[in-house]
Amino acid sequence: MCRFCHAHGDGKRWYLQAANYAEDLLNDLERRRYINEFIHWLGHLQLSSLENELKPAVGAPSWLRQLIFSFYERRYRRDHFGQVVPIEEVDQVLRLANSIVRIPCLCRKATTGKTDALYCFGLGLDPEKLLDVKQSFLETFRPGPDVKFFERLTHEEALQIHRSLEKKGLIHTIWTFKTPFIGGLCNCDRADCLAMVSYRYDLKLFFRSEFVAVVEPEHCIGCRACLGSCQFGAIGFSVAEQRAFIDPFRCYGCGICRVPCESEAIHLMPRSDHPIAARLW
Ligand code: SF4
Ligand code: SF4
Repeated sequence: MCRFCHAHGDGKRWYLQAANYAEDLLNDLERRRYINEFIHWLGHLQLSSLENELKPAVGAPSWLRQLIFSFYERRYRRDHFGQVVPIEEVDQVLRLANSIVRIPCLCRKATTGKTDALYCFGLGLDPEKLLDVKQSFLETFRPGPDVKFFERLTHEEALQIHRSLEKKGLIHTIWTFKTPFIGGLCNCDRADCLAMVSYRYDLKLFFRSEFVAVVEPEHCIGCRACLGSCQFGAIGFSVAEQRAFIDPFRCYGCGICRVPCESEAIHLMPRSDHPIAARLW
C-alpha cells in the first residue's frame, strides 16, 4: 500500500474511499480557491518554463538535487499528487464521484498549445462552486476557470471514453486537490503530460499503481506486440526464451501493455504480493 493508503485510506486503497470525494471537502473555501489558482496558473504555464525551473536542479550535485526534489515532492504531496490506476479501478473511481465533467487538458495546453485535447476529467468539481470563491479585493480581478468548456458526463459515458483512450496507450491517473480530496482523473502520455515530463527529470509527482504487471511465460507466444506499449520502458524481450518480460523496478502497474497482447499473457498482480515491487512506489 502506498503512503496515502495509510494516511487517507485507513490501510485500504485511499482512492476507493468515498470520504476522499466528499462534497464537504470541496466546500472548504481554501481548497476551492486552490483549485481556481491551480487551473489559472497551469493554463498560463509553458513547457519551457517548467523545464527552466527544473534545469538548475537537474544540473546540481546529486545531494542538492535530492534536497530540492524532496522539497517539491513534499509540497506536491500536500497539494496536488497523483497515482496510476488501471482501467478496472477507473470504473470504481467514476462510481464514487458525485459528478463527472470532461475538460480540456491543461498539461497539453502547456506543452503543445492545444486547447482541444479532451483527456482530463473533473470529479465532483461543480463549475458554479468553483467560480464562487472571491474573498478579497484582489481576487475579484482573477477570472475563475472557463466553465463553458466543462462537459458533464454520465459514469457510463466517462468509462467508455477511458476505454477508448486506453486503446490509444494513455495511462490513467488520479489527482488530489489539497490532499486527500480527489478531484481529477487524467489520461497521461510521456510526450506531453507535465507529471510525466517531471518523471523524466526524476521528480516523482505520482505514485505507481497498487499493482505490477507480470508476463505468464506459458501464455506468451513471443509475438512482440507489447514491446512498444510501455511508457516507462519496463518491457523487455528474451531472445533466448522467445518471450517478453517485465522489469518490476520500472513497472508502474498501469496495465496498458495488456491491450496489444492478444494471447492475454500479461496480467496485473497486487504490488504487495510481488517480492520486488512491493516496496517500490
Ligand atoms: S509494464 Fe505494463 S503495466 Fe507496467 S508500466 Fe509498462 S505498460 Fe504499465
Ligand atoms: S504481446 Fe503478449 S504474447 Fe506477444 S510478446 Fe508480449 S506478452 Fe508475449
